[in-house]
Amino acid sequence: MTPTRQGSFRLFQLWGIDVHLHWSWFVLAVYSISTRIPHYGAPIWGVWEYLILFLIVLMHEFGHALACRQVGGTADQIVLWPLGGVAYVAPPPRPGATLWSIAAGPLVNVVLVPVLFGILHAAKASGALAQSRDLEVFLQTIYRMNVWLLVFNLLPVYPLDGGQILRSLLWFRLGKARSLLAATVVGLIGGVGLIGYAVVIQSKWLGFVSLFLLSNSWRSFQHARELRKVEQLPRRAEFACPVCHASPPSGDFWRCPKCRQPFDPFATAAQCPHCQTILDQTTCPDCGNVRPQRSWDASIRDI
Ligand SMILES: [Zn+2]
Ligand SMILES: [Zn+2]
Ligand SMILES: [Zn+2]
Repeated sequence: MTPTRQGSFRLFQLWGIDVHLHWSWFVLAVYSISTRIPHYGAPIWGVWEYLILFLIVLMHEFGHALACRQVGGTADQIVLWPLGGVAYVAPPPRPGATLWSIAAGPLVNVVLVPVLFGILHAAKASGALAQSRDLEVFLQTIYRMNVWLLVFNLLPVYPLDGGQILRSLLWFRLGKARSLLAATVVGLIGGVGLIGYAVVIQSKWLGFVSLFLLSNSWRSFQHARELRKVEQLPRRAEFACPVCHASPPSGDFWRCPKCRQPFDPFATAAQCPHCQTILDQTTCPDCGNVRPQRSWDASIRDI
């Protein structure tokens, strides 16, 4: 259910990051703007409010993307859709790098709190708000929306930023799989709690978002269980992934690209025992990176 390039078109490119807009954004934009217009004397303020909200979301996503690049990860796409934005970030598989890539998004909203507060009060001091009630409603709404986005994103419900921050913090102590397992369990509980809360306050929007979060939490929980299985396999200490330094599990977990039979390239010097094809690249089951077989030798790694 996460938006992809499909169904979206490219708005612009900034610092090598493509910003896409999903078609469904327009549907919700029309609906949202129509509900906001009655709050203003002049309808155009409702449009501005929605556009500024999306500018804030966009800045938040750029926070993720640029931080991810800073720590050596890849981030080249942001998709804006009705539930906000999604920055496609792949930080290096280390807890510190992941923590920074995730925390940088909400940090943008933290920085915006005093900025927007300052603008609101400067406008008040200059007497501009006394002349335009629309401007007052507009500035107050923008200020509140930013605080609300910050608080909501920090809820520890995986995959919200708060849930991912919790996961990265646990990663330092529990390792990659167990931290994800713990964070997604908290996410599942939180997701159910949010749905309950949505029913109590009768918010369809929150109900929909909570369902979306819950289904994502569930998928990530399953993924964590698979990761855990891989983590628990016996390892070949004489080899190590050149990217994450994890030793590969021993067993037929790789597939020959030619005959599609499973085999263990670390037992056969990377030669398929069925068709004799030599595998020149090996995928790391821990971090997913693909590297030449010879770079996995633990003894040559540190040279
Ligand atoms: Zn975020
Ligand atoms: Zn690896
Ligand atoms: Zn083969």
